[in-house]
Amino acid sequence: MTAVRTRFAPSPTGYLHLGGARTALFAWAYARHFGGTFVLRIEDTDLERSTPEAVQAIIEGMQWLGLHHDEGPFYQMRRMDRYREVLAGMLEEGTAYYCYSTPAEVEAMRERMRAAGDKPRYDGTWRPEPGKTLQPVPEAIKPVVRFRNPLDGDVTWHDVVKGTITISNRELDDLVIARPDGTPTYNFCVSVDDWDMRITHVIRGDDHVNNTPRQINILNALKAPLPLYGHLPMILGADGEKLSKRHGAVSVMDYPAQGFLPEAMLNYLARLGWSHGDDEIFSMEQFCAWFDLDHLSKSAAQFNPEKLAWLNNHYIKLTDNAKLAEMTHALMMADGAQFAAAPDPAAVMGLMKERVNTLNELADAAMLFYRQPAPDAALLAQHLTEAVKPALRDYLQRCATIEWSKAALAAMLKEVLAAHSLKMPQLAMPMRLMLTGQLQTPSIDAVVELFGREVAIARIEKFLA
Ligand code: GLU
Repeated sequence: MTAVRTRFAPSPTGYLHLGGARTALFAWAYARHFGGTFVLRIEDTDLERSTPEAVQAIIEGMQWLGLHHDEGPFYQMRRMDRYREVLAGMLEEGTAYYCYSTPAEVEAMRERMRAAGDKPRYDGTWRPEPGKTLQPVPEAIKPVVRFRNPLDGDVTWHDVVKGTITISNRELDDLVIARPDGTPTYNFCVSVDDWDMRITHVIRGDDHVNNTPRQINILNALKAPLPLYGHLPMILGADGEKLSKRHGAVSVMDYPAQGFLPEAMLNYLARLGWSHGDDEIFSMEQFCAWFDLDHLSKSAAQFNPEKLAWLNNHYIKLTDNAKLAEMTHALMMADGAQFAAAPDPAAVMGLMKERVNTLNELADAAMLFYRQPAPDAALLAQHLTEAVKPALRDYLQRCATIEWSKAALAAMLKEVLAAHSLKMPQLAMPMRLMLTGQLQTPSIDAVVELFGREVAIARIEKFLA
């Protein structure tokens, strides 16, 4: 069997969006599954819409996801000599021809066909045929080059996602493959590249299905081997509409900024249009081992931000606490965190990570321990009543000597509650306010333990004076 070679071939006209990243992931995983080669090709021939910033954004997005390419990036704009060489060969062999019809003439012939109820196409005026005499070449006109598409028969391919697709050659025009200035056009460049780069499997979005028969015909004319094609259905928003900004971030690189982990994004994208039984959570290693083209879905996948958040929570919980502390450090600094005389950030991460969906939420939650508490006066008056102050004094006194562990603190708090005939919230709520300035925190014993003996006592004492 030939070694598997796949490619991701983005046009650098914007950011790397979720659909593009999913295409890249599947092409990458397929190459990895077979120990093959994953090629990155930048299709930058649309000079008006391509930008170096977009190239950078695509490369950054792939790097963030860890979808490393083995070859490339190849830039189509740097391959012009090669395209010209192939064009020259085709002109010589007669699989392509110069067409001197002017744009106005082409428009007029299309109009005529539309009027006659036919599909508008080039009428073949300049198409060479055996025994046909062409008109004299008009000197003032710079010709385009057209591909000499077969007139009869069908193009059939077995799409690994969509099944067998057949298109009649009558549906296909004699495609312009080079403009009057000699620059090659899209379908031609893709075909030459897939041939030169020895691509065995073309996995791409199904917006390219219409291009495939044209590319197959060009490859056949070049006597190039045909790759297998698989066209992935679109990703839709939860409302069934085409995914757009309305559905949340569409650019992959918006996700790290919101505190998503690449593991979560990869795992999420992997399940958009592919399945392995009921498995929802798996590593990329596992995915590459499983990934095949037999379990790709024929129907459009729906983007579900809640599921992505759920996976992100899962991967945050799996991440080492010290690593999480590192990852949230800059966010917390920007929020004014004071790390001196404060709990160990790794321990705080360990306590807070259960309940958050993003690193940004984690940083927010952790700030509890790194800012001076400023409880609302009215709230404090409501919870810190004269009735509970003696119990709090008792609690502080015991704090001074108790073994500093969550279990010991919990047992001690229960004793204090019993001794003063109070219920848990009667002590826990004012303590939360005094320690952190807020009423919502993890278990009070965990919070007290993390602050440490000195800070915990000092913060509560201040309000009891
Ligand atoms: N450059 C095309 C795009 O960005 C992809 C072409 C292909 O995969 O064949 O949509």
